[in-house]
Amino acid sequence: MNEIDWKQRYEELLAQNESEEAANRELEELLTRTIIRLTLAASGLDARLEPHLKGVRDAVRGGANKQLKEKLNSLSDGLLHFSEDVGVSDKEVSTDYLRLIASLNLSKKEAAEANELLRLLVEDTTSMDDQQFNRLVTLLGRGVAPKEKRTGLFERLLGGSPAEHESGPKPNDILLNLLEQASWPGHWGEAINGLKARLGAAAQADAWASVLQDLLDLSAKSYGEVQMEIKEAEDFLEELTKRLQDLGAHLQSAHDGRDQIVEHGRNLSAKVTGHVGDLGARVQQATDMHQLKAAVSERLSLIQHSIDDYLAEEMAWHQQTEESEKQLRDRLEQLEKESNDLRSRMVEAHHLALIDAVTGLPNRLSYEERVEQEYARWKRFDEPLCMLVWDIDDFKSINDRFGHQAGDKALRVIAQGLQARLRVTDFIARYGGEEFVCLLCGTPGEEALRVAEEMRKSVEENGFHSSGKPVPVTISCGIAPFMTGDSIDSVFSRADKALYHAKKSGKNRCELATNS
Ligand code: GH3
Ligand code: MG
Ligand code: MG
Repeated sequence: MNEIDWKQRYEELLAQNESEEAANRELEELLTRTIIRLTLAASGLDARLEPHLKGVRDAVRGGANKQLKEKLNSLSDGLLHFSEDVGVSDKEVSTDYLRLIASLNLSKKEAAEANELLRLLVEDTTSMDDQQFNRLVTLLGRGVAPKEKRTGLFERLLGGSPAEHESGPKPNDILLNLLEQASWPGHWGEAINGLKARLGAAAQADAWASVLQDLLDLSAKSYGEVQMEIKEAEDFLEELTKRLQDLGAHLQSAHDGRDQIVEHGRNLSAKVTGHVGDLGARVQQATDMHQLKAAVSERLSLIQHSIDDYLAEEMAWHQQTEESEKQLRDRLEQLEKESNDLRSRMVEAHHLALIDAVTGLPNRLSYEERVEQEYARWKRFDEPLCMLVWDIDDFKSINDRFGHQAGDKALRVIAQGLQARLRVTDFIARYGGEEFVCLLCGTPGEEALRVAEEMRKSVEENGFHSSGKPVPVTISCGIAPFMTGDSIDSVFSRADKALYHAKKSGKNRCELATNS
């Protein structure tokens, strides 16, 4: 081997070494992430494993090193003892993996695969290749939240069980459901409808990204508008304060001016008394008619002067007062107008914030306000009060068969139908997605059940129309009367339970809650 060959061979080996090192680093990172997720997922299975799980997690955060090896060994021992303690054979240890896997969002086939990969990982880390590792990371990446909680959220957002979404939730669907179920301010209605339409069946897979961006822009714009309103209200209040201060100053100066006039009147009276006394003395002293006349005329003109001065002062004061009063009146009038404008704008904004954009019914926020009022009234006057919780039956399939726009229309029609059968003193709101809540005031349970039955029947009989064709639709209801010791939440939860019962008993039903 000559020198050139040797050098070339050396450089090749160096490059190979570097690329192997990079691959190892990548693998190490992958391993680190996997182990952290794994320990988190396994956390909560058994208290005895917790210290080992935490030990591994802490060690792995510092990189895959010697300490990690020790911790993995002790976790392995822990798992072994755990299985011995509970009297299961080595083979049955896999049931724990199954419990762990069950908490992930996986199909049956994927779950079996994950189980196998997990066994490989914990029992013999060296036998796992890159591909298996990557696959395990992907499977574990499907979420590690407790099943019950995550399933609930999943179903709320996707309107179906995870099993119906084997291939994983689609971002467009998640966003669409979010848009549908959130309670948007009334005046956002059109904008939100536009966003929903962009996520419809024909949307491109990545439509959610631009829709989300527009939703954020809309929120930012609305936030800006709210800030402007607040600034306007602040400016108005500042102006109001200034004008009230002006009014105070004016009243004070009017008061001072009046004091001054009284003082001038007193001065005038003293002066006139002085002049008259002086005149009397002069008259006494006068020896001829000429002197008498001159004395009288001199004193009279002094008296006249004093009166003229007084009148001039008073006139000037009146003029000044009148002018500043007029200015003040004008400013107060303008202020009143501004305050009326502001009030009606606020009333309108408040009204809009309480209306649901899709159905035009009061929204969830409005319900929260109203239920507090009715609850307080019920406590005080003890008149019967009932809560009705409604949920449209199989609404998901209406969306699936006729599209979301038809779904929105159905919501509107049903909402109007329900509302039409209530008394003016009753209340109905869109609680969320395809759920409504009613408060029947002065109505005992049995009567509420009768009213609810009528409402249910009217939905069943009328359905709605899509492309000119009638589409049947039904709705279920849970009814709970307010009872001694109840909180709003306890009544709601009884009504919700009754609704659940109605659904389980075949839907298109109304059920009165039991007392417990
Ligand atoms: P169930 O009889 O058990 O209530 O079944 P369901 O299909 O009605 O219930 P699920 O909770 O599975 O689905 C509710 C669906 O309602 C999912 C969601 O897409 C739809 N939805 C909720 N809000 C809106 C909305 O504003 N417009 C439209 N078009 N659909 C909505
Ligand atoms: Mg529902
Ligand atoms: Mg429903």
